[in-house]
Amino acid sequence: MNFSCRCGYCFHDNADELYFKARIMPDQDTNEFWNLIEDAEKPHTKDEQHDLHGKLYDLLERCIYQCPECGRLFLENASGSLTMFTPSDTAEPEPEVDRRMLISDHGKNWRGILSGYWFDPKPVWKPYQGIIRVRIGEDTETLQELNDFAEMERQFHAVFEKLRAEDRIHYAAFHVYEQGGSRCLFSWNK
Ligand SMILES: [Zn+2]
Repeated sequence: MNFSCRCGYCFHDNADELYFKARIMPDQDTNEFWNLIEDAEKPHTKDEQHDLHGKLYDLLERCIYQCPECGRLFLENASGSLTMFTPSDTAEPEPEVDRRMLISDHGKNWRGILSGYWFDPKPVWKPYQGIIRVRIGEDTETLQELNDFAEMERQFHAVFEKLRAEDRIHYAAFHVYEQGGSRCLFSWNK
């Protein structure tokens, strides 16, 4: 890909390990990334390896470029188009600039995360020992706040089964925080 900066510098993105280019991975895709790394560590065939490389490459496909002459940034969004950002302390943002440049490669189809947290003992600043939260798209919603562990587990699994059946999540985890550390009681990856 070749393109020009407003200052006149011409970017030639036609080699590896360029000093003016970096790859960005959406935070929304972090679980997917680590799942692929886990899969890569397991025994696999040449075809599976090819497939894994392709998926990893897709996750790291999006780039950011910086003009070495003037410092302007060019950020690639999920659909592959570049937007220029000019370093500035005072100017207002461009009214039409894409405000969602760092969303997942899955865009609006990004599936969410279900989290359960249980604190033992209950921290004094928390009104409840247990909390069940779901993040889908840009919204984080607290579904339950409880003080009964058995009920917490029951509710968590009920919500999990429902969201999984509706294909609305890609990751779920239930963490217990105790004195001396935390442990994961349950985790699921789509
Ligand atoms: Zn420039």
